[in-house]
Amino acid sequence: MECFAPQESYPGEKRASLTPETAKKLSQLGLIVKAEANLGSGSNYPDAEYKKAGVSLLSSASDGLATADIVLRVRKPSAEEISAMKPGTILLSHLDPFNETELIQQLAQAKITSISLEMIPRTTLAQKMDVLSSQANLAGYSAVIEATSRIRKVLPMMMTPAGTISPCKVFVIGVGVAGLQAIATAKRLGARVEAFDTRPVVEEQVKSLGAKFVKIDLGDTGQTAQGYAKALTPEQIQMQQAGMAKICASSDVVITTAKLFGRKAPTLVTEEMIAGMQTGSVIVDLAVEGGGNVVGVKLNEEVTTENGVIILGHGSFEGNVAYHATQVYASNLLSFIEHFWDNENKRFKLDREDEILNGCLITHDGEIVHEQFKPKAG
Ligand code: NAD
Repeated sequence: MECFAPQESYPGEKRASLTPETAKKLSQLGLIVKAEANLGSGSNYPDAEYKKAGVSLLSSASDGLATADIVLRVRKPSAEEISAMKPGTILLSHLDPFNETELIQQLAQAKITSISLEMIPRTTLAQKMDVLSSQANLAGYSAVIEATSRIRKVLPMMMTPAGTISPCKVFVIGVGVAGLQAIATAKRLGARVEAFDTRPVVEEQVKSLGAKFVKIDLGDTGQTAQGYAKALTPEQIQMQQAGMAKICASSDVVITTAKLFGRKAPTLVTEEMIAGMQTGSVIVDLAVEGGGNVVGVKLNEEVTTENGVIILGHGSFEGNVAYHATQVYASNLLSFIEHFWDNENKRFKLDREDEILNGCLITHDGEIVHEQFKPKAG
């Protein structure tokens, strides 16, 4: 079998789906590994390293797509790329199937076996393949670093002969994978950190990182069987906004990461709350691609409000640390392939009984096979 990693075409995407290290391991499984030349130019993996790892570098993506049995991507493929693939190709990529109805239909029509990596179940067995976690962790880190570079203040307390500098206050809203790493990073840099999440189980984790958990009584909130937050009622959202307004007003940095899997992110930071914040404060909205938590945030833009608050809405903060984001993303893909690898016959075994595959297989053999995305009868 042959696998191919094309360059990413999404504007500004620096990550890649293959590293020299994972290429070597894929070859050891028995795969022929090919990649588009300059694959790692945005993430600092030089062509020479891929060559050393035995990868054949192609100057044109369409040549690689035409013969590949497995295609590795970070972002969804274009319509042209889909038509360049042969029927039966296994595509591993982010596909955003909740919003990409047309893309999913195209993949089915082209008889591509498509696997949406964000749909991999969040189970212990699948942890090594969990691209949401590997990328969110780095996004949380990068959000703090980016905000820190903008606030024109230092994070830790400093006692100097010229006076005492008070520590900055960082408020993290949404304490999943990204939020936890944001808290840990801000704490390491010496900030005073507070955090809030609607899932009460998070309180212990926040405290164990040395941060303060903000208590806002919203009544019943709970979480889904998969561990995701449930959507709040409009009344609960209002109570949450009221509870957070004061903390935002006294924070130098606010980082929002609150997502609802497969649904639009809740609006948590309102215009009024931003108007109450200090000039020079920075808000980072890590939920911007899902609609955003902050009123006025713009995807891939930096907005400065009238009162001088900076709102950062880059879609992929992990792209700022593209070397490591690529390292862990490519490793997730390798683990996925290893899990399904039939070593005897040197092929990817599409085990339809497997719980992991069932969770993330979207199209196969000309059809949309995932229960959640099948067209409704009638
Ligand atoms: P996510 O990106 O979907 O959401 C980020 C956080 O926002 C979550 O903690 C969520 O509770 C919170 N949130 C949602 N609405 C909110 C609101 N109105 N106000 C404040 N916070 C709000 O979450 P994630 O980081 O992908 O993690 C989701 C869950 O999956 C977590 O419980 C995590 O521990 C779990 N998880 C499990 C595994 C595993 O077992 N292998 C791996 C990764 C994550």
